[in-house]
Amino acid sequence: MSIYYIDGSFVPVEEAVIPVDDLAVLRGFGVFDLVRTYNGKPFFLKEHLERLHHSAAEIGLHVPWSHNELNGIVLETLAKNNYPESNIRIVVTGGSSPDFTTPQNKPRLLVLVSPLPKLPETWYTDGVKLTTRVTDRFKPGVKSINYIPATVALEEARRKCAIEALYLDRKGYVLEGTTSNIFIFKENTLITPGRDILSGITRKVVLDVAGAHFEVQIRDISRQELLGADEVFITGTNKGVVPVVQVDDVHIGSGRPGPLTLKLTAELTRRTIPDHQS
Ligand code: PLP
Repeated sequence: MSIYYIDGSFVPVEEAVIPVDDLAVLRGFGVFDLVRTYNGKPFFLKEHLERLHHSAAEIGLHVPWSHNELNGIVLETLAKNNYPESNIRIVVTGGSSPDFTTPQNKPRLLVLVSPLPKLPETWYTDGVKLTTRVTDRFKPGVKSINYIPATVALEEARRKCAIEALYLDRKGYVLEGTTSNIFIFKENTLITPGRDILSGITRKVVLDVAGAHFEVQIRDISRQELLGADEVFITGTNKGVVPVVQVDDVHIGSGRPGPLTLKLTAELTRRTIPDHQS
């Protein structure tokens, strides 16, 4: 049973509640970030906390907790739980509002620790299918609690036996997935979009490692170019690096996880998660 940090207190999951007049409930006003552990330690926590502060600042949500305070609260909450590996969801809500609209600069901080879910091994050995969908998103660089477009797109994806949906802009350029960033390989060049996306922490780790092995281009990718890529993969905290072998009705490359994606994944594991496999 998880212990959560809810607005100043550590409570068991069944007592974890917030008031209904919180702007997160009434207006979807809030931000969050998701961190995972490797060997019990939060992975790139500093970067996730920086992104949380950035997300809040972008929507004018006051965050009274310093980086060090957030860091301490996250580690304390994690220590109160006892999972081999955890997901840590850090949420800043808009706080209670007497007129149900106006922020009062009294946000709530929630830290939810849960066991890391086990994802199907076949995602990594055989690759996955994605769907595409034209979607306009408000401030894509902000990790806001509003995942309405994601929920809608993912429902559609699952109906079509896909595990993730990609957002396209109105011109047909591929932006990112509902909870992931997208990469393609064309020959030895690794390409990923750079605008109108959430700047993923996993994306950054991949780009840092990839620079030593491949030519890297950060630029727009059309849906056509995506479908004609040699290899495609997605990245995210909740799934790591997942090879993509089908987008909508089109098979990518050989229809199997590609050698460059596998090489990059192995290099990532070796470089950034040294004792991951021990
Ligand atoms: N893009 C969106 C819209 C996301 O919600 C996420 C994560 O949930 C990502 C990309 C991947 O980011 P990260 O690697 O930091 O998990």
